[in-house]
Amino acid sequence: MFWNNLQKTDNTKDEFWARRNNDSEDHYTQNAWANKAKGDISMKAVVDRDGCIECGLCASVCPEVFRMADDGPAEVYVDEVPAEAEDSAVEAQEGCPVSVITVE
Ligand code: SF4
Repeated sequence: MFWNNLQKTDNTKDEFWARRNNDSEDHYTQNAWANKAKGDISMKAVVDRDGCIECGLCASVCPEVFRMADDGPAEVYVDEVPAEAEDSAVEAQEGCPVSVITVE
């Protein structure tokens, strides 16, 4: 249902999966890789809520980190991204149609 609604308005679903499938080499952002390289294994996520268009993608892709807040836009509800959710948090960042998610 969620994806169907998205497809009616734009190609967000297709773009998301295309990026996910074709972007494995560049899956992590530069900052995320830099943090891992220097041994800083904690990853943080931030949403610029002012720019969020409330599509729900991040909360769907990575519910361990993102959720839709009662007042509308998505929010991050954990201090640090759990290790098991790092990949999906990055996927949410990459898939956000308005690029308001930062994971590093
Ligand atoms: S994916 Fe981006 S635009 Fe969509 S709900 Fe999450 S933060 Fe908002």
